[in-house]
Amino acid sequence: MSIDIVRSVAELRARVRYWRDQGLTVALVPTMGALHQGHLSLVSAALERADRVVTSVFVNPSQFGPNEDFSRYPRQEERDAELLDGAGCHLLFAPTVAEMYPDGFATTIAVGGVSEGLCGTVRPGHFAGVATVVTKLLLQALPDLAVFGEKDYQQLAVIRRFARDLDIPAVILGVPTLREADGLAMSSRNAYMTAEERAIAPWLHRALQGVADGLRAGALAADLCPKAADGLLKAGFASVDYMEVRDAASLAPADRLDRPVRILVAARLGKTRLIDNIGAVPEGA
Ligand code: AMP
Repeated sequence: MSIDIVRSVAELRARVRYWRDQGLTVALVPTMGALHQGHLSLVSAALERADRVVTSVFVNPSQFGPNEDFSRYPRQEERDAELLDGAGCHLLFAPTVAEMYPDGFATTIAVGGVSEGLCGTVRPGHFAGVATVVTKLLLQALPDLAVFGEKDYQQLAVIRRFARDLDIPAVILGVPTLREADGLAMSSRNAYMTAEERAIAPWLHRALQGVADGLRAGALAADLCPKAADGLLKAGFASVDYMEVRDAASLAPADRLDRPVRILVAARLGKTRLIDNIGAVPEGA
């Protein structure tokens, strides 16, 4: 295997500086590892737009709540490095927790507005953890471009918001969600599911499509969303955290398809929490 792995901010900066001195552009792909084809599609998008691509793998403790899956989150660095190497990624940045959060660390990036509601309600502190670590990664690597998945649509909105608010010069690129053949969005957390749960999981995407079809037929979100959530419970989901229609850009609540919207869902299947979202646009838009 030939991809280089660096673990300190100093080494990362030295690599990026070396590339910059040669006039090369640099893209960053932040991840938590346990990589799948969805992550690799971000690397491909980055490679199309920049000369050098750095992927970070860091399971960020500050974005997990006390009862969440931080300790059991899958960690498989060797496999990740092989996949990144095969995808043409140039460097893997895999810092330790101590490198990212040295003793005395006391700063939080808190983003208002788009962090509220949806996952922000169910996972208090989650987006502050994400915003803090992504801000650090952007300042550490100083990339021209940073690439994120639409799979985590609210997270992408949060990142776009603080990047603008803090005048972070990197271009933020969102990449469409890669799905399994049956429609399930690829996710590192899919590995948690039993075979029985895995067979039920595609209902999440179907439920989103059902809401999109209903909106296109002129129905209201207030009627469609509770029915879709109920359908998920009947399919075998344990609970639905939310099923909502939002303005695609601002994430403000939307009640009908009179502008581009995003339909977002989070639901629990056994012990696994799954999230997904799709877009819908008015005809002719
Ligand atoms: P994670 O490792 O889950 O934190 O994800 C790292 C990045 O990969 C985030 O920007 C995610 O939105 C993105 N991502 C995760 N799953 C997918 C997918 N199925 N398709 C495209 N991007 C994804």
